[in-house]
Amino acid sequence: MSAAVPELPEVETVRRSLEPRLVGHRVTRVEARKIRLREGIEPNEWEAGVVGRRLLGLERRAKYILARFEASTALFHLGMSGRLVVALPDDPREPHTHLVLRFDHGRELRLVDPRRFGVAIVLPNQAVAQHPGLLRLGADPLAAEAAAALRQRAARSRVAIRNLLLDQSVLAGIGNIYANEALARAGIHPLRAASAISARRLDRLAGAVQEVLEAALRAGGTTLDDGGFVDADGRGGYFAVELMVYGREGEACPRCGGRIARRAAGGRSVYYCPRCQR
Ligand SMILES: [Zn+2]
Repeated sequence: MSAAVPELPEVETVRRSLEPRLVGHRVTRVEARKIRLREGIEPNEWEAGVVGRRLLGLERRAKYILARFEASTALFHLGMSGRLVVALPDDPREPHTHLVLRFDHGRELRLVDPRRFGVAIVLPNQAVAQHPGLLRLGADPLAAEAAAALRQRAARSRVAIRNLLLDQSVLAGIGNIYANEALARAGIHPLRAASAISARRLDRLAGAVQEVLEAALRAGGTTLDDGGFVDADGRGGYFAVELMVYGREGEACPRCGGRIARRAAGGRSVYYCPRCQR
């Protein structure tokens, strides 16, 4: 099975586990390795932007975590393999710990990212909305407007519905696992042209996206066989056991008993039941 990339439920799970531990506390020290992630890390910007500042809140936009300070915002994206971990200063550091923020209550926030596709930058507050990663984000899939956003974009789309679900400018924060799972629950073939799907079925799909994400949130995110995802306490999620199609090529469809199929599409596999999904 391929590595588990953190998706929206995993990122939201991380945000929720960090919030009570860190919000309201002041950063006393930063250790930042000048290192090439997808973006970052510039040690001087971390020093100037967060040392001596109180963490006012932790927000999420799509798969970004925004740590709000008085005048600046730290922007994190976990990329392929990133993790944000709260630890005590004496706890052994894992390899690939690139950034450590020490807080005034003696806890540390550590960014661990072996594959370095993450983002860890500090921006002035007024520049956050203009960051390229946030600028073109579509509706939050958990928000009420998600169904209308999906319908509007599907009508004038030329791509397969799975690819439309992965387009972050339509619904922000859906990755391949949850796209496949939502399509299975809605009974829609992942490679069907988005524009050929009726409004009624698209509404059902938007509902399935929310069901899948909310189920994953309740389970604390998805942990696949490689243990790639854990929250700030190092606990894995449990949603993998409930996956209907993803990673289940050749297994029995839980609905009809037929075989789950896999096809390569756009560099990432689609999993589906050829009988249930049209
Ligand atoms: Zn089936």
